[in-house]
Amino acid sequence: MSQQPEKINLLGLSPKQLEDFFESIGEKRFRAIQVLKWLHQQGASSFDEMTNISKTLRQRLAEVADIREPEVILEKISNDGTRKWVIRMDGGSSIEMVLIPEGSRKTLCVSSQVGCALDCSFCSTGKQGFNRNLSAAEIIAQLRVAIRSFGPFDPKDERRVTNVVFMGMGEPLLNFDNVLAATELMMDDNAYGLSKRRVTISTAGVVPAIDRLAGLSDVSLAVSIHAPNDELRNQLVPVNKRYPLKELIAACNNYLSHLNDKRVITVEYTLLEGINDQPEHARQLLKLLRQLPCKLNLIPFNPFPNSGYTKPSSEAILKFKQIIVNGGIVTTVRKTRGDDVDAACGQLVGQVDDRTRRSQKYLSVLQLDSTTESLTPAGDS
Ligand code: SAH
Repeated sequence: MSQQPEKINLLGLSPKQLEDFFESIGEKRFRAIQVLKWLHQQGASSFDEMTNISKTLRQRLAEVADIREPEVILEKISNDGTRKWVIRMDGGSSIEMVLIPEGSRKTLCVSSQVGCALDCSFCSTGKQGFNRNLSAAEIIAQLRVAIRSFGPFDPKDERRVTNVVFMGMGEPLLNFDNVLAATELMMDDNAYGLSKRRVTISTAGVVPAIDRLAGLSDVSLAVSIHAPNDELRNQLVPVNKRYPLKELIAACNNYLSHLNDKRVITVEYTLLEGINDQPEHARQLLKLLRQLPCKLNLIPFNPFPNSGYTKPSSEAILKFKQIIVNGGIVTTVRKTRGDDVDAACGQLVGQVDDRTRRSQKYLSVLQLDSTTESLTPAGDS
């Protein structure tokens, strides 16, 4: 039985990969720029639209390649303007993404994996286990969906998406190549043209991947610290057992040293009542942060049922913040946004067909957003 080779999805090819593709089919490399513009500036979804390319080449392209996007199965707009989508990926699992408006800034929070393998103790995505990496096309498709939701495709329209953060589902640095290709497209002038300061990869601290990224990309980096010492961090962010704080801070400094501008790392710290929110934790954190050019983003814990954690009081959050600010570190407290559509940090759960069987342990405690309950049921394949 002969099987048709699968067509290559051009949506996820980085500028360099698209040039290589054209070369591999005996075409000139500059075609890549034409096609990049069609795909990512015009939002083309078929080769027929690409009118500055000859009909023969368009037909040839349609034989070997395609432009495939996953299906949007739900779009919700929250009272505060936050938009949330549920997108079904090939294979039946779904992911969630959100767009958060804040003044002139419109931040799109994208997912990089279906589920997550890292199992941070306070994250509901982690409780669902891990299914698979998203392809670069599936990551870029999220940006296209968000841009398109405002009307005819226009990535340069500043009222749509101005910033992208990899803070949805998944650990982006464990899906290295696809995330890298997607960020290259986001930052390329022939594609989305976002500034490197406006595209941020957020990692729980996969040290070898941070090292690999250094010199290869100049995307902005956020690091999820969540605890000021290894003992506590081992419990909250288990990947710390492999890559402890000292190595993580060194990798971050090394990353910054490869950038040719003055940038800082965004340190994320989710505040969990009675666990990591005490003044002594703040003082310890301050010492740690002094070893790294950074700004701090405090995230009050977003609850989900049976998580075992609660959010600290506003007074406790303020007190914590003040200790760090008094130590001279720029600190913001993340506002909870879009919680009327379950779009807040750590509430993005999608529907993960878990391959690690971890979710079996948690199925009884897992919150399923009532709007996603009717989707493909989670469980073992
Ligand atoms: N894997 C990446 C992206 C995760 S999501 C990372 O670890 O950085 C983005 C941020 O939200 C991370 O800092 C994550 O730890 C945090 N987060 C996860 N669940 C949360 C919750 N329930 N409340 C508040 N923050 C949460």
